[in-house]
Amino acid sequence: MAETPTPSSVAATTPTHVSTGQLPSPEHVQAVIEAGYERFRGVDEGAVADYIPALAAASPDLFGVCVAGTGGRSFSVGDAAVPFSIQSVSKPFVFALVCDAIGHEEARRRLGVNSTGLPFNSVMAIELGQDRTTNPMVNSGAIATTSMVPGDDAAAKWRFIQDGLSRFAGRRLEVDQHVYESEAAANRRNQGIAHLLDGYELLHFDPDEATDVYTRQCSLAVTAEDLAVMGATLADGGVNPMTGERVIDASHCKRVLAVLATAGLYEHSGSWLYEIGIPGKSGVSGGIVAIAPGKGGLGVYSPPLDVAGNSVRGQLLATFLSEALGLNLFASRPEPVAAP
Ligand code: GLU
Repeated sequence: MAETPTPSSVAATTPTHVSTGQLPSPEHVQAVIEAGYERFRGVDEGAVADYIPALAAASPDLFGVCVAGTGGRSFSVGDAAVPFSIQSVSKPFVFALVCDAIGHEEARRRLGVNSTGLPFNSVMAIELGQDRTTNPMVNSGAIATTSMVPGDDAAAKWRFIQDGLSRFAGRRLEVDQHVYESEAAANRRNQGIAHLLDGYELLHFDPDEATDVYTRQCSLAVTAEDLAVMGATLADGGVNPMTGERVIDASHCKRVLAVLATAGLYEHSGSWLYEIGIPGKSGVSGGIVAIAPGKGGLGVYSPPLDVAGNSVRGQLLATFLSEALGLNLFASRPEPVAAP
């Protein structure tokens, strides 16, 4: 009698089919991002983050957008080349590198992958979780992720992260020293989270050193153009479409994107997915990366945030682009949208 196929044996016999498509023509993409930029540049809602003193100095008027396709082309408008600290948008990329280093199953076992429904820096999220894990997109899971990066000391771990994120961006990324020093002087809450995790034996390195490497990772300076290329690398199965370099194995990309879909936009992750329908990650400096699997990455920078900590203009723009470029993963047929 034939054996009943299991889900994984079915998947193993059908490796040639994927659920994706292509971006519209280059002219259309450029016209749509310009239209979106014009439509939302005048929005003045939200507030620039100030709990890290150096972030409070950012101009609320900055607004940059870039779409990078898996075919290797990119399209920018506004302040897309203005540098800012990557903050939490570093989390998916460090998680991706850790999955590549230890395997996504082991990463899930040690870090958890379920959303917490609580703020990004919640201590309660650790306490309420049955096994005290959270997920790599909130601070506790992200600091645990950073603690698991290969390397025997902080310098080696830092090198691994800086090199890895630079490979995602396709250029050498450097720390914004001013932001790093400002955040390092004000991150006792993250140190507390690291010590709590250490108490539960969920940290894999010295808690203070792990927090310091995490703070450095959050202080790496990027642009909206970098975020788009980094996102496009996840969209392209782990190959940077600009440099052609494989950064992580394809099998890990879809897991990273799954965690983003459930937890990338803090407590508003459900609303984001409901509206926009693709995985994304935001950070408190006003950056957002969004990934259309197989198609490309979107990077947006606009510092004013909503109450959950997500860029206001970034979310509006992502909603507009998702519709106008046909990015929503849950759509099965085109719907009429307003012309750009
Ligand atoms: N470095 C920031 C923190 O740990 C990142 C927060 C964020 O962007 O959500 O508080």
